[in-house]
Amino acid sequence: MLTTMSMKNPYLLSVLDSLKAKNAHEPEFLQAVEEVLESLEPVVEADPRYEQHNIIGRIVEPERVVMFRVPWVDDTGKVQVNRGYRVQFNSAIGPYKGGLRFHPSVNLSVIKFLGFEQIFKNSLTTLPMGGGKGGSDFDPKGKSDGEVMRFCQSFMTELQRHIGPDTDVPAGDIGVGAREIGFMFGQYKKIRNEFTGVLTGKGLSYGGSLARTQATGFGLCYFADAQLRDNGQSFAGKRVIVSGSGNVAIYANQKCTQLGGRVVAMSDSNGYIVDENGIDYKVIQEIKEVKRDRIKTYLNYVPSAKYVEGCSGIWTIPCDIAMPCATQNEIGESSANALIANGCIGVFEGANMPSTPGAIAAYQAAGILFAPAKASNAGGVATSGLEMSQNSERLSWSFDEVDAKLKGIMEGIYAACAAAAEKYGMKGNIQAGANIAGFLKVADAMLWQGI
Ligand code: NDP
Repeated sequence: MLTTMSMKNPYLLSVLDSLKAKNAHEPEFLQAVEEVLESLEPVVEADPRYEQHNIIGRIVEPERVVMFRVPWVDDTGKVQVNRGYRVQFNSAIGPYKGGLRFHPSVNLSVIKFLGFEQIFKNSLTTLPMGGGKGGSDFDPKGKSDGEVMRFCQSFMTELQRHIGPDTDVPAGDIGVGAREIGFMFGQYKKIRNEFTGVLTGKGLSYGGSLARTQATGFGLCYFADAQLRDNGQSFAGKRVIVSGSGNVAIYANQKCTQLGGRVVAMSDSNGYIVDENGIDYKVIQEIKEVKRDRIKTYLNYVPSAKYVEGCSGIWTIPCDIAMPCATQNEIGESSANALIANGCIGVFEGANMPSTPGAIAAYQAAGILFAPAKASNAGGVATSGLEMSQNSERLSWSFDEVDAKLKGIMEGIYAACAAAAEKYGMKGNIQAGANIAGFLKVADAMLWQGI
């Protein structure tokens, strides 16, 4: 399979073509790599060391991939089996760090794309964390607490051999929240007989950090606010669409509302709600975090709202600001064109890789603001890094202290992306700036450490 993109550098093209030949059945992974390599063209051309030491060929290959069987017993006594994954992608700047996703769509391609993006995201936070990701095709939806616990215990029984507070520190992601982290932490402690910060996103009573729950959504809004202000705009008075209704979406709604925006639509994997008066994040919290119910029940709380079955139509609702916070490739080219035609001024990504390449091309052609996930959703892992620091010093910081650090980190990431884009002749291209700024630190560490 040969590349069809605009990239011309022979070294980058040869790395990409060989990767495509070896990983032909991993479309999400190849999409994520292609997107990064395209931005790195001017960097590789400016510094021959990256080619001489084959840094690109090395950075696209995970250091280690672990795949394992996860057997568990359901409530009827039947033995079920799922597949578990941990991809330890790059440890040049710190222990592997990245979430665990439990969702039926999980496969090696999805975990590798997430692990690859995590390398650059973690580097952007300025904290010492390498890149990794893991998960399973297990679906916690519709399972009892007992089934989820037995699954998590079985998953951790194998995973514990490969992780540790100075080796690899997983966290949550889609389908992995406080409940799942708690069950996995309990099993790790039982097997290893040690109480360490081996997972982040823990409950507050046993080493979790204040503000970790809010961090990705809040961080997304701090980043968006910095980018909007840099372009003479703000959240004040803006109509906002936040897709999804999980951890990232709920707290993106809260912070964006605090900053003066009005969230008019949110979704889950069945459909979306529209409330012109602004969706109260506390109602979504109650539906999703407490009742674990469907978003359509929002109408029981706010009868004047509207519910539409199916999720992609959410992007046809007129808005000023779009914040995709559900899943990968949720905005395709036609959705992007609908957003632009309706006057959207910016897309700020909360989910990982929610925009397809065609959608990104449409944003760029229209000249609207675009915040790429690996920069704009880095607040979650940044606060996980702060949780690791608190665990190491056996202290816990106040909510305001963590939140202030998070805000500073997100503003710093925006500034670093903007500066890198400008330095390499792409002023205002925050997507390219994020890839370049994230890459340089990791590549430098790899050069120092030899092969
Ligand atoms: P959650 O499991 O808490 O929530 C996911 C939400 O997205 C749910 O409301 C889910 O609906 C919805 N959803 C899933 N698939 C679709 C779909 N195809 N269309 C519409 N809605 C959908 O996950 P998170 O909020 O933690 O994660 C969301 C995204 O953010 C992911 O891409 C994740 O990788 C990324 N992310 C998360 C971080 C974190 O700290 N949690 C950090 C950085 C990135 P339903 O309830 O029906 O399943």
